[in-house]
Amino acid sequence: MSAGPNVHLISRQDREHPRRVAAPAAISVSGLAYSVRKRSGETLAILDNINLMVADGEFVAIVGPSGCGKSTLLNFLARLLPVQSGRVEVFGSSTGPVKGTVGYMFQQHALFPWRTVLRNTELGLEIQGSDRLERRQRCLDILAQLGLQGFADHYPSQVSGGMRQRISLARTLVGNPRIVLMDEPFGALDAQTKMLVQELFLAFWEKHRRTVLFVTHDLDEAIALSDRVIVMSARPGRVLSEYTIDLPRPRHLDALRTSTRLLQYRKQLWEDLRDEAMKVLRDKP
Ligand code: ADP
Repeated sequence: MSAGPNVHLISRQDREHPRRVAAPAAISVSGLAYSVRKRSGETLAILDNINLMVADGEFVAIVGPSGCGKSTLLNFLARLLPVQSGRVEVFGSSTGPVKGTVGYMFQQHALFPWRTVLRNTELGLEIQGSDRLERRQRCLDILAQLGLQGFADHYPSQVSGGMRQRISLARTLVGNPRIVLMDEPFGALDAQTKMLVQELFLAFWEKHRRTVLFVTHDLDEAIALSDRVIVMSARPGRVLSEYTIDLPRPRHLDALRTSTRLLQYRKQLWEDLRDEAMKVLRDKP
């Protein structure tokens, strides 16, 4: 497909010219580098000079080849890893706990099989010691918003994969985190379930507008959901480029999936990613 006259809809910003964000930054990462020492004694560089700003209420997707350090970057934001070099700030602070401020959702749902849907959803609030009746009401409310009304008393084994991911999502969101880190949250779902869960999540996000950092391999998903897409290089991960997704909201995923604009964004992203993905393929044993 030729780039066509609408290619100006795609705005690219290089690493050398990071985007200036007017609203107070929810996330600010500057000069972040990270390496580990392998058993052989060799040093493995994982992240290299990452610079990233995410405004409060912004939805940013991160795409990049496998092993480029996307999950590692999220781990820094959740303060699960100590910073070796550079700076990682959450609402202006580089130290202290982010529990309550940052929610983290993984590809695998990690639900407890012996707890009901409701009790799984309640877990975080329960640990925080919130009032029993209030937390129950909040959980039932969020389960309903994610299309899970009527399943509160079921166990995870009694519901579908798509439902389990939504329960996990409900558990992440119910504590009202100001920032939600999502690591391929819908990656394990079959294609049709994924589309439905994306729609529910998008509607939820457009209503509540939390700050989201969303890692995905799915370029269409990144474009359709986010305000901005960051493209990372093969390991050691660097920010290669970023694209502001200039699509109006509220978005209608069915229409968007077949739109020319989505195809243009996808083409541009894939042009950036292709060589990086190829490097990973060549390195595979
Ligand atoms: P992604 O999420 O982009 O797939 P990850 O952040 O999970 O990538 O991992 C980045 C790379 O760093 C992977 O190749 C992984 O194996 C490697 N890695 C991460 N932590 C360690 C560690 N402690 N020791 C050795 N290798 C690690």
